Amino acid sequence: MYDTVIVGSGAAGLSAAIYASRAELDFVVLEREALGGGQIINTVSVDNYPGLPGTGGFELGQKFEEHAKKLGARIEEASATGIEKKADGTFTVLTSAGEYDTRTVILAAGATHSRLGVPGEEELAGAGVSYCATCDGAFFRGKTAVVVGGGDVAAGDALFLARGCSRVYVVHRRDSLRAAAVLASQMGRTPNIEMKWNSVVTEIGGNGRVEYVRLRNVQTGEETDLPADACFIAVGIVPQTDAFSRTVRVDEKGYIVAGEDTVTSEPGIFAAGDIRTKRLRQVVTAAADGANAVTAVQDFLVRKQR
Ligand code: NAP
Repeated sequence: MYDTVIVGSGAAGLSAAIYASRAELDFVVLEREALGGGQIINTVSVDNYPGLPGTGGFELGQKFEEHAKKLGARIEEASATGIEKKADGTFTVLTSAGEYDTRTVILAAGATHSRLGVPGEEELAGAGVSYCATCDGAFFRGKTAVVVGGGDVAAGDALFLARGCSRVYVVHRRDSLRAAAVLASQMGRTPNIEMKWNSVVTEIGGNGRVEYVRLRNVQTGEETDLPADACFIAVGIVPQTDAFSRTVRVDEKGYIVAGEDTVTSEPGIFAAGDIRTKRLRQVVTAAADGANAVTAVQDFLVRKQR
């Protein structure tokens, strides 16, 4: 019987692990991927985490994991499929690798990439369609890439790709970026990045690999085929809450309803990081959530003992 089971090993889960170690809780971290670190490992460069300017996302994710392990965290490869509440108020976390009995649960499973849902996206995945510029960008050195989206990830991807690709088109459905101003101005200063404003992708096409991306201008309705070798999709994230939405309350987008105290609708289950309802989804706020979740776990365990 664990004091807490932490589901997910991104910034929130690993921060929770660091705090749980220091609180001398009996805990385990579950991660469904062989590699921990969460979404940040797919980010080119992180420039807004205090004390570590310009750190590579992969490096930062690995540092989080090393830190947690150094303090004694055990990370097991297991994909959580559900949570059962027992009559005595404790929980069983059901996973692909067996069951974990625990007094509390910290849900820190984060979010994954949204899909565009256009023809060609699925068929050409891995053949030019990608959701990770840091992973796949190097394959398109000297070639033409399209980035879809106007947020931080799209901007970071475009800047990264522009270093190796001959041309990068950024397709955005509006006429202004959502991305941080510093990234937007960097993009404006990069000669081989070209913006395609007010445009949406209607199809990704090619014979066995990406050869063109079809755009529709949302103002004029005009359609054009942009010759391209790759299409990097960065249109936001969806929370990974399918396994938990029967147990805790989620909002209309699937995020677990929880405030900064990480307290969910189910006493003893806490939600930290991108998986919960919040205004600002950043590494620094995910790490803060992990710390708050462990404090909430400790309060819960003390109250139960009384
Ligand atoms: P995001 O900020 O939600 O941006 C998604 C972008 O895709 C928006 O520009 C949106 O357009 C566009 N979009 C959404 N659905 C679309 C569709 N169906 N077709 C075309 N365009 C679509 O997502 P993100 O850039 O993936 O970032 C996710 C979160 O991680 C954000 O909260 C971000 O701030 C955070 N992040 C943090 C860091 C860091 O901590 N350093 C780094 C990267 C990302 P609209 O603008 O019109 O809505």
